[in-house]
Parts: sequence; structure tokens; C-alpha cells
Amino acid sequence: MAGLNLKHIYKVYPNGTKAVNDFNMEIEDKEFIVFVGPSGCGKSTTLRMIAGLEDISAGELTIGDMIVNDVEPKDRDIAMVFQNYALYPHMTVYENIAFGLRLRKLPKDEIHRRVTEAAEILGITEYLSKKPKEMSGGQRQRVSLGRAIVREPKVMLLDEPLSNLDAKLRTQMRAEIAKLHAKLNTTFIYVTHDQIEAMTMGTRIVVMKNGFVQQIDTPKNLYNYPGNKFVAGFIGTPQMNFFEGTLKKKGEQVEINFDYSDAKVTVPYSMLYKVRPSFLNGEKKVVIGLRAENVSLDPAVVKASKAKIKVKVSHKEELGNQTLVYGDINMEGDGYTESATRIIIEAKGDTEFASGDVLEAALDIDRVHLFDKETEESILPRIPEHNFVDCDVKGGVLNFLGNSMQLPPAISCVDGKYELLIPSDAISFKGDVEVNVVSSENINGKTLVSFELGGRRMFAVAEEEVKKGKKKISVDFKRISLLKDGETAVEAMPMNVTFKGKLIKEKVVEEVEKDGKTKKAKVVKFFFGIGDAKFAAPDDMANKLISAMGVKKAFTEELRYECTPYDLNFDETGISAEVVDTVDYGKEKFAVLKIGEQTAYMLVEGNASGSVRLVPAIDKLAISIAEKDIRII
Ligand code: ADP
Repeated sequence: MAGLNLKHIYKVYPNGTKAVNDFNMEIEDKEFIVFVGPSGCGKSTTLRMIAGLEDISAGELTIGDMIVNDVEPKDRDIAMVFQNYALYPHMTVYENIAFGLRLRKLPKDEIHRRVTEAAEILGITEYLSKKPKEMSGGQRQRVSLGRAIVREPKVMLLDEPLSNLDAKLRTQMRAEIAKLHAKLNTTFIYVTHDQIEAMTMGTRIVVMKNGFVQQIDTPKNLYNYPGNKFVAGFIGTPQMNFFEGTLKKKGEQVEINFDYSDAKVTVPYSMLYKVRPSFLNGEKKVVIGLRAENVSLDPAVVKASKAKIKVKVSHKEELGNQTLVYGDINMEGDGYTESATRIIIEAKGDTEFASGDVLEAALDIDRVHLFDKETEESILPRIPEHNFVDCDVKGGVLNFLGNSMQLPPAISCVDGKYELLIPSDAISFKGDVEVNVVSSENINGKTLVSFELGGRRMFAVAEEEVKKGKKKISVDFKRISLLKDGETAVEAMPMNVTFKGKLIKEKVVEEVEKDGKTKKAKVVKFFFGIGDAKFAAPDDMANKLISAMGVKKAFTEELRYECTPYDLNFDETGISAEVVDTVDYGKEKFAVLKIGEQTAYMLVEGNASGSVRLVPAIDKLAISIAEKDIRII
């Protein structure tokens, strides 16, 4: 029994294929994790790295509390079940299951206990004396499961174990594997390309595509809150409807326009508060996603709905408990071809439709999914990144939603009307503006707090739960932006400082103790070359970089170091920079730095100016291989 931790795991095959990129996940003990995605997305490679059958190119893998990157597969305390059962044909089922234990020279009675127990759990006791060829595919897969169980592993790895079985048996074995997981109380990691298998078995699912993790979540959350269009389309049958269009905010209303069609619906902005504000200008293209069950043809629902569109019906699929009606929101469309206007509707009741009928359909906008057409990322995140409200500035005072806040000297702009963007993690529940907290919900380890201010719903990300009712907030002004006619008038302070450099190896003469005597000797020391300075690199950090890049490239690859404005200090031994200004955000002051081409910020106590030298907090640095954009530390 053990949890696993995968930190910045990469796999680059010798031929250059980047099969897995920056895989990060903490797996808790006893979870049932499923890796799912189309063929070639890197699921098996990840599983094989966990098993130790493939080297890890970069990153750190922990099983239990041990880093296992360099631990042999046999010493990792895992067991693996493959698609092809790989049983020994000349051995009986008993011998097949016992084989690994015999190799390990376990006592005979212990082997017998484990084999009979496993056979009992898997319901194959009566086959123990048979040979594999006398058994069906499902029974053989049980034997190979048995072989894994008897090792009593900390982690069970299963690579498409059911794909050789026919559909009915697959469904049955799915249930049995889920039952087995409950019985064994062990961590399971299961690879499949079948989304239904993933949805029915996993406690959490990792959706992968082209070597990148797309989303990690529970089946329910993947279905309800897909993070991008790929996940939205991959999970669920029939596939989610995707339309193209634009969103235009007009006061407190938003117009949703569908391209290649006359369809248009207008909904209150309150339904779309979480939408990324830059997509509300009526120009940026979006993908509008609606599942078949979130569109209705039911006359009563249509009558009551404010979001109606016309659909030309083409055909339907009767699935027994469900009727799928196919149509098009473009009156020229055929309803058969998958397109940006084709629609599939789950029809309830037994209303009859004829091909060619034009009907009204109601869209459940509460359930709409919206994606950036270009990047395909969700623009309607579960945790909204920003609050977007109208405001005005007068004499250094910011007025919004009936409240006034004094702006710090760092923010100077001409008086007038603006749109205010407040990041949801720039609001804290200490301050002097009174709000009414409506809900506090835990989402993937973060707390999303919804509150009302001046009749508007707003969102904040808090460290911990905030109780409902009256609370006071403050806003971190260095994080806000002000927009005028869609253009940025006041920019948020950049929270990232970037340096370039290399890892350096030097031999230095040091006094070392040997046999109770102090002697001079040459020892190898590592340094981070950053800009025009050099800092001692702790051995563990240097070793991580060397193991990730390989000894040959470790000292030639360009590295990118990143830290925040809070992680820099002045010191004569440091990197040269120029202080061009100091900005005052009230409680905090920041020096504005020119470091080469880059403008960066740094927290300062008093005033600073002119040429300076900077030292970053080495333990706070994030380090990446610049060219490949692979983060190592
Ligand atoms: P999946 O299990 O999701 O089908 P894999 O992990 O098997 O995908 O493969 C991921 C990618 O790595 C694919 O592009 C595949 O062609 C490539 N790949 C797999 N094994 C090797 C190998 N030994 N050498 C080079 N490329 C490989």
C-alpha cells in the first residue's frame, strides 16, 4: 500500500520523440487512477516509467516515501498486468500464479496460502490444476491478475488488461477489477483508451493527449467541468455539440452569436460572470459546447426558455431508453455531417418529428461550456481568474459597485470611467470593504468563495473556507488592471523575474579531512551561472539537473531561472541590474529593475536607485531547460 508522487516527469525517447511532458500528479494510497487518451498519447510510457521498465528522462518519481528513479523494477514493490496475459502454457494455473513467488524463494506453505487466497478472490479455484489453453480469455486474464495479486504489491499497474476481451466480458471484468480494488485496498493505476472504462472505474482520471496531461479529475468533474475542448469532446456519448461563435456583453446582458447560422440568444451577464472578460467583446472567436441532454425540444421547456434557437431536424437514432435527434442550426445544413452547426439533441417523451421539420430548441445556458477557439482552453473556468466590473477613478479614488477605495501612489491614471479586472486570488478576507459571502466551495484543493458586493456576484480564491454572511475584504492593488475601451490603461505588476544562464562545474582546492589529518585536495563544485554572476549550487539541485540533461549536455544547455519579486536581495556578488524607478503600493514598495532587456520588480524597504547587484534566493528558483521548455526544478 502506497501513494505515488510524479514531479515534472518527462520521457524523451532516444529518437527524439517527447512521449511524456511535465507529468505532475500526487496519487494517494488506495486510489484507482485511470490514464486515458487516444493511442500514442503517452499513457503506457508513463505507466512503464512507474514500473521501471523505461528510464525517466527528467523529473522525480516517489513511491511511498522513496525516490525510485534509479530503483530496479523488481525492488519497486509493484506488479503489472498486461493486455496479453503472457502465461506459461506448459504450467498449470497454480504454477503460473506461484511462479514469481517461487523465484523469490518464499516458503512453500506461504506460496500455497497466497495462491489459494488469490484464486478464491478471483473465483478460479476450480481451475487451479488446468492449463491456460483450457481456459477462456476472461479466465486467463484472471490468472494474470492472480499472478500480480500474490506479490502483495504496494501498487498494481494495469495496461489495457481488458482490450483482448469481447464487449460483454469486458463489462463483466470491469466490475470485477473494481471489486478487486475494493478488496485489496491497494493503489491501482490503469491504462485504457476507452473513456467508458475510465469513467466507470477510476476514482480519478488523467486525460492525456500528445504526451501532455489535459486534465486530472474525478469522472463527474471531467464530465461537468472539462478544462478544454479536447476533454469535453473525449468524455461523454454522444459527443458534446460544438458550435463556433462570439460573445458580446451589452451592459448586463450577453449576446451569444452562432456563426454560419442566424441563431442568437441573449442571456443575463450573471449567468456568465465566470467567463474570461477578454472574450466578451463580440470579436474573439469562441467554441460553444452543449451536451445533447442540455438542449431540449420539449414544448413546455421551450416555451419557458429565454435561450431558443431554430433547428432543422434531419434524422433520429432510437436507442431504447433514449432518442437522439440530429439536426442543424444552419437551415442549409444536412444534420449528418459533423460541423460547427450540426446539433444532437436528447429528446424526452415521444414527440414525433419528420425529416426537414424546423423546430425550436431551448439551450440550458447554465450548462454551457465555452472555449477559446484558438487555444481550445476553457474560458469558463470553475475557478474564475478574474472579476470584471465597471468602475471610475476620480482624484486617486477608485469607485466600483458603490464602494470607494483609495488607490496607492503606484497606480496613476487620468480620471474617468474604466473596466476593472481584479484577479480572484488578489482578494483577501481582511480589510474594510463589507461584502456578503454566499458560498465557499473546495475545488481541487482550492477554496472558491462567492460573495456579493453592490448587488454583483464576485469570486475570490481563499486559503481556507470562509463562513457565509458579512465579511470584510481588501484588494491587492498591484494585481489589478484597468481597461479603457478594451485597451489596458493600468497594468498589473509582473510577478515573475527571469534569468538565463548555465550550470557550471569547477574543480576547487579545499581542505579535506582524511584519516584524522587535514589535507588539501581538489574537489568538484557546482555553480549556477546566472546573468553575469555565479552562485554556489547545492549538490542535490545540481545532481537533478545533471540527471535530467545527461552529463554531456548538463553544462552546455541554456537554463532559465525564475523567481518572484519577493525572492531577490541586493548583494555585491550578484547579477548586475539597473533600478529605474521605485513604485509605492502602500504596504509594499518595489524597485523597478532593468535586467538586460527585461523589466522586473523587486520588493524593497526604502528607496533604491542606479546600478545594483541582485542575488536570488537559490532555494526558491524554478529552473528549466530553456530551449526545450522543460522544467526540472
Ligand atoms: P499510448 O500508450 O498512449 O498509446 P505510448 O506511451 O505507447 O502511447 O507512446 C507515446 C509516444 O511515444 C508515441 O508517439 C509512440 O510512438 C512513442 N514511443 C513509444 N515507445 C517508443 C520507443 N521505444 N521509441 C520511440 N518512440 C516510442
